[in-house]
Amino acid sequence: MAANEHTPSPRPLLGIGSCLAGNAVRYNGETKKPNEYVRAIGEHFDTRAFCPEMGVGLGVPRPPIRLVGSADAVRIVDVKTHSHDYTDAIQAYARQVLQQAPQLCGYILVKGSPSCGYGRVKRYSQDGQHLASDQNGVFADALAQADPLLPLEDDGRLNDPGLRESFVTRACAYHDWKRLVATGLTAHRLIDFYTRYKYLVMAHHVPSYKSLGPLVANAAKLPLEKLATQFIHALMAALTYRATRRSHSNVLFHLAGYLKRSITTPQRQRLAALIEDYRTGQVPLIVPVTLLKHHFADNPNAYIDGQVFLDPYPDELRVRNVV
Ligand code: SF4
Repeated sequence: MAANEHTPSPRPLLGIGSCLAGNAVRYNGETKKPNEYVRAIGEHFDTRAFCPEMGVGLGVPRPPIRLVGSADAVRIVDVKTHSHDYTDAIQAYARQVLQQAPQLCGYILVKGSPSCGYGRVKRYSQDGQHLASDQNGVFADALAQADPLLPLEDDGRLNDPGLRESFVTRACAYHDWKRLVATGLTAHRLIDFYTRYKYLVMAHHVPSYKSLGPLVANAAKLPLEKLATQFIHALMAALTYRATRRSHSNVLFHLAGYLKRSITTPQRQRLAALIEDYRTGQVPLIVPVTLLKHHFADNPNAYIDGQVFLDPYPDELRVRNVV
């Protein structure tokens, strides 16, 4: 089926905290400087900026707000009096954002913000004592509840290479899935989709690799909608696990196995040595992946060429260049 106007564009669309996108919308009228990883992601994905505090009518400058209450009943209120409660309005704004931008396939949140923080946001008692740093911001939490599949990270957490890799991987996968759904989902197309993701799933979580195969193999026995829901939840959960040097190496050796009849013994040994160098931390992942791609360019294999593992996100992000 042909793509239509509801089909997401070829570049994934991410939401981003407006202050991180260069807009002077913080309570004190400032922006927040994005780190190099946020900047790189912004260059290679489409982004759309939202500020929930501005979105519910708070202006600039505005009195600061904070999270107050017990861990399971937190509210977002003004710091000075705790009497102005913005919780319901910010939660409603999050749902509105997802309705306005159904193509969103990830969201870059803002570290520490009572609205936009993701994990470890400070929580206070009614009398203003710091109780713990154990919360998501109210906007972030409402996004997660409204769309549990939406990959979320904040700018601080994107400094971590494993979290960064998982985030961009999931954002691209969710984008890919939305394009598939928009262009017409069938059991056959779902099977094709999973076939392309097999080795990426193996790199992130072998138990999911083992359970997704039988789920998809039974595609004809389940109603399509039920199958699709189970499948995409399981896929996104699998990609949330961090891929490690060990798990990546395991996949690389599997892929190298497809070349055993088409490259020479010295080429095989060189490839195996590079994978081992990667496994022991001598070279970044991009090195053995590039050699593998080079061999598959000379010895095409339709099954391997389709594997998302070889190109899960734009190379320009340099996610695989970290030693
Ligand atoms: S509400 Fe979010 S986007 Fe707006 S200034 Fe605060 S952290 Fe930035």
